[in-house]
Amino acid sequence: MKRILILGGGFGGVYTAGRLEKLLSPDEASICLVNRENYFVYQPMLPEVISGSIGLTDVVSPIRRLCPRTQLIMREVENIDLQNRTVTVSPGFRPRRLELPYDYLVIALGGVTSFYGMPGMLEHSLPFRTLSDAIVLRNRIIHCLEEADVETDVELRRKLVTFVVSGGGFSGVEVIAEVNDFVRAVARHYPRIPREEIRCVLLHSRERILQEMDEGLALFAQKILAARGVELHLGDRLVAATSEKAILKSGAEILSKTIVSTVPSAMPPVLEKLDCAKEKGRLLVNEQLALQGHEGQVWAVGDCAFIKTVSGTQAPPTAQHATREAETVAANIHAEIRGGGRTAFAFEGLGKLGALGHNCAIAEVFGIKISGLPAWLLWRAIYLMKLPGLNTKIRVAADWLIALLLPPDLAQLSLARMSGFHEQHFTPGETVFHEGDLGDFVYVIQVGECDVLRTIDGQEQKLAELKAGDYFGEMAVLSDASRNATVRARTAMNVLLIPKRDFDKLKANVPAFGEVFSALARQRSGQ
Ligand SMILES: Cc1cc2nc3c(=O)[nH]c(=O)nc-3n(C[C@H](O)[C@H](O)[C@H](O)COP(=O)(O)OP(=O)(O)OC[C@H]3O[C@@H](n4cnc5c(N)ncnc54)[C@H](O)[C@@H]3O)c2cc1C
Repeated sequence: MKRILILGGGFGGVYTAGRLEKLLSPDEASICLVNRENYFVYQPMLPEVISGSIGLTDVVSPIRRLCPRTQLIMREVENIDLQNRTVTVSPGFRPRRLELPYDYLVIALGGVTSFYGMPGMLEHSLPFRTLSDAIVLRNRIIHCLEEADVETDVELRRKLVTFVVSGGGFSGVEVIAEVNDFVRAVARHYPRIPREEIRCVLLHSRERILQEMDEGLALFAQKILAARGVELHLGDRLVAATSEKAILKSGAEILSKTIVSTVPSAMPPVLEKLDCAKEKGRLLVNEQLALQGHEGQVWAVGDCAFIKTVSGTQAPPTAQHATREAETVAANIHAEIRGGGRTAFAFEGLGKLGALGHNCAIAEVFGIKISGLPAWLLWRAIYLMKLPGLNTKIRVAADWLIALLLPPDLAQLSLARMSGFHEQHFTPGETVFHEGDLGDFVYVIQVGECDVLRTIDGQEQKLAELKAGDYFGEMAVLSDASRNATVRARTAMNVLLIPKRDFDKLKANVPAFGEVFSALARQRSGQ
């Protein structure tokens, strides 16, 4: 019996598995699918999770239900060995190596948001691809609103209620439209936030958003977004971020505590290291979607593949293409096993749909252009029809009905408390903390330098200069007191933050760790 291994449980992977289940009998081939999660995410509806107009888990479907005959392995793909035809996946509860041999391999691992060469983006901007990204963003927005309602420092309050989304493609536009609708709809519950301080900003590098759409429809989308209060910054793009601001290519800065990035996209690291033909940072496949040099054994579909249709146009990274690519690959694996002609990928796209929030959308279907409410109804009808699984369809339809009748839900989902070690990036001149602040973190400098400053007789005086490898912030944390100095970055600086809670745990359990910081604190306080 042949072994078919599918990597990735998104549009490409799940639709390949589903199609193969129909084409092949169980005694002809075993089908195994590896995915990080045990569910399939319907990404086109993900932005609606932000406002809660779709329930947090209603936008996903369990893969076991969608592909009942496929063996699901919920692990991380760590290595692909094309020569020996094996795939290594991450260890489970018991840390053992698991190697999966295959006769036929389908790679459908999608893309990741890449922050390469963009300082501070990894630490301070939020990607938007997965269910957890959507939940994290929703929680962040609610947290910022809660904080802004009690914040008396006007500058900080403005940062808290400024939401920046980078990327004017479909996902960026849909995300900013949802964020804007949500924030403005719930603002009345936060009476101490002046409405005029709320800002939702969309950044896009070109002169108009939605380049892939007809110009008239894209301009209509811009007009609608602007009328609803979204600020459009066109012809500029995000190049760096700190915990306080978005830094643009033009040098402009937008003070904000919430920066979402929907661009650029790259292959997952496990594919970056794969030794095979690539084009524009994706796996290069032929017309039958077989990986170059591995024809008849390995295929790639979806966002991770560089695909040209028979007409020579490049297939865009969309769900409608990924599902058609899955059909082509399933047909070609079927032909390998049973014999017969190979199929070339020939789908050119049916149209494009983009939601603008609040009962409005734009659509270009079979060459017909529609906008406003009719496009929104079409958008909902098509996506409801396309949603896999009857259960999910019913849940989403019910969510939409409830969202039409009731105001958006404001509850923040409190997730389990985990270790809060994280990293931050600071630009030169940026303050890490102020004298008088409470001691909430201990800092370790990874890259860069900073000054330790104290105000004496109204004058700021430099106490010390710190560099990579130095620690600071321990005195206030150890003594539960306020900061006795201000720390300001002198150069671009990356730091590792150890929250007080984690620091205290480490100190209690690893005495040598605590002693390093206690000795440093004694030395700094001159004892
Ligand atoms: C917000 C948003 C809105 C969108 N809207 C639309 C739209 O309206 N219309 C449209 O046609 N397209 C839309 N798209 C694009 C569409 O969702 C993608 O083109 C499609 O999901 C690509 O399918 P895929 O199978 O290649 O990747 P994905 O669907 O991303 O699936 C990849 C899978 O691989 C898994 N994976 C990745 N790496 C590993 C690993 N190392 N180990 C284990 N598992 C791994 C991931 O967890 C994921 O489940 C949207 C995308 C986004 C993000």
